[in-house]
Amino acid sequence: MAEIRLVKLRKEFRGTVAVQDMNLQIKEGEFLVLVGPSGCGKTTTLRMIAGLEEASSGEISIDGRPANDLEPGQRNIGMVFQNLALFPHKTVYDNIAFGLRVKKVAPADIRVQVEQVARTMHITHLLAKLPAQCSGGEAQRVALARTLVTNPSAFLLDEPLSNLDAKLRKEMRAEIDALHNRLSKTFVYVTHDQEEAMTLADRIVVMRDGRIEQVGTPMEIYSEPVNQFVASFFGSPAMNLIPGEARRTPGGLRFAFGGLDIPLDGVAPIPDGPVTLGVRPESVRLDGVTGGYRARVTLVEPLGKESLVYLDHGAERLLIAVADPGFRTEEGASVEFDFHGGRLYLFDPDGRRLG
Ligand code: ADP
Ligand code: MG
Repeated sequence: MAEIRLVKLRKEFRGTVAVQDMNLQIKEGEFLVLVGPSGCGKTTTLRMIAGLEEASSGEISIDGRPANDLEPGQRNIGMVFQNLALFPHKTVYDNIAFGLRVKKVAPADIRVQVEQVARTMHITHLLAKLPAQCSGGEAQRVALARTLVTNPSAFLLDEPLSNLDAKLRKEMRAEIDALHNRLSKTFVYVTHDQEEAMTLADRIVVMRDGRIEQVGTPMEIYSEPVNQFVASFFGSPAMNLIPGEARRTPGGLRFAFGGLDIPLDGVAPIPDGPVTLGVRPESVRLDGVTGGYRARVTLVEPLGKESLVYLDHGAERLLIAVADPGFRTEEGASVEFDFHGGRLYLFDPDGRRLG
């Protein structure tokens, strides 16, 4: 097992700051997910932890020992790459055995260990094949097996499922989850997929432009986002963001957008001025609402277990609501909605959370 600590870790590539003074403590045995849009520095962070990229400044320690000057092979960390990086001309067996041969493990022991890890990953029947003869999901298992067999104390996985189709991605996601539970080792997992982050992580690290925006459990990140970026990154469909005005009135704070006037009960007082109201699609109620706000349906997307209803107010896109599949409406219809006690968020013009 391994605890990994990053202190003011920084990486610059000729003028581009890829990772900016990152502080992070990755706990022993935890499943930590680094998530953020393409180019935010996820891969660079992972490569620095693995020792494949030298930090421009800052410290990396593994189990309390400084690791900056350790070679990748001395860090006892296994990395699974986005493109898998399997040797195309070696069989699956030889791909898996490679790391053990490098470590000069005795050939008889190599066979035992490769066969054991192949059973674990359900790829025994593939051992004689070449990577090109494996399906995407099988190749993914081979890449995991190749890392697993070296028995590292921590696993670093860089978007390992991004090349798989949606169904297979969900299956492999569950397998990786089960693997982590079985091994109880530290996993650092990189993805740009918010759903993968939410479902796999003990803790999520949200990155943007080389910086950490927020660290927290999936539910903390979802229900208490520190800013508009984090709020809009998580959830599908994404949180509705409505630009309007905050107004203090004798009856309390209110939010105005077009002709809408929405009370903001329970939100701490803020000065009058432009704000963005955030509300998750599942907090918008359409069914059985009377005395609510009026909007016009512009699109209905039936998804089977629920329907997405797109609403306009006046000439402007207002929000997306999640409705029961039984909710009957049609494009062009006028409907009433309310927030049914659902959570409302407020952001200032710079995207900082106000309430
Ligand atoms: P992510 O994995 O989140 O998509 P990366 O860590 O790959 O992001 O990249 C972060 C930033 O650093 C990007 O702007 C990228 O273009 C830049 N970058 C990454 N690797 C290199 C490199 N070898 N040389 C120059 N710039 C790089
Ligand atoms: Mg990347």
